[in-house]
Amino acid sequence: MLELRNVQAGYGSINVLWDISLAFPKGELTAVVGPNGAGKTTLFRAMMGLIPHRGEILLDGVPLRAKTWDLIEAGLVMVPEGRMVFKDMSVEENLALGAYPRRCRADRARNLERIFALFPRLKERRAQFAGSLSGGEAQMLAMGRGLMSEPRILLIDEPSLGLAPVIVKEVFATIRQLKAEGVTIVLIEQNTHIALSVADQVHLMRSGKLLLSQPAAGIDLDHLHDLYLARDAGSAAS
Ligand code: ATP
Repeated sequence: MLELRNVQAGYGSINVLWDISLAFPKGELTAVVGPNGAGKTTLFRAMMGLIPHRGEILLDGVPLRAKTWDLIEAGLVMVPEGRMVFKDMSVEENLALGAYPRRCRADRARNLERIFALFPRLKERRAQFAGSLSGGEAQMLAMGRGLMSEPRILLIDEPSLGLAPVIVKEVFATIRQLKAEGVTIVLIEQNTHIALSVADQVHLMRSGKLLLSQPAAGIDLDHLHDLYLARDAGSAAS
């Protein structure tokens, strides 16, 4: 299990995350929702060791103080917001980069076939430059690259960003499948409806703080949206 205890992080003298305590149970899908600038991506950056943090981040009870590279070796893998594929490299070369951690190099060919089974369109386009993919295909490539690293915990940052609704459905069908396979997933998502449809647990962040943490099944969507939009219940009703 991945756990955050009183985590604070930010950029230089600007603090963004304020005392975040969260647990991401094994095999579950946890969604972190919140408006623009809430600090969701900053949370992932802190978890991946890309920015320094105060407080504790623990994996199976052991504090993570390692470099990003060591975290990936430990199985913590991020699919970044905006895909960040290498545009001048082919689909297959991008996927091969995901197989760089030592623990999964030997299984590279098997994992590649698994990704191609999960995303047949990537197989059709395996020799194509990643820069020429559609937004949805690039999102699939970014997820495929993450899966090539055989993640124990997969962090996915706003997979629906900029995609047509029909493609969002496709991407989330894959996320559901990964969940069914037992991958522990932490999902950042602005689309609360779709986040709630896949999540076991939901956390709402605003202004770098956690405002709500609940099982998805028990969430009152109106209340969630009131908190999300910083409306008080009275003004929401009028
Ligand atoms: P979005 O949904 O728009 O991606 P978010 O919840 O992921 O938003 P963050 O990207 O974590 O929010 O940003 C939180 C705050 O940190 C914002 O005020 C943002 O301007 C600031 N911030 C983000 N990256 C940096 C940076 N590299 N340097 C300084 N401030 C930053």
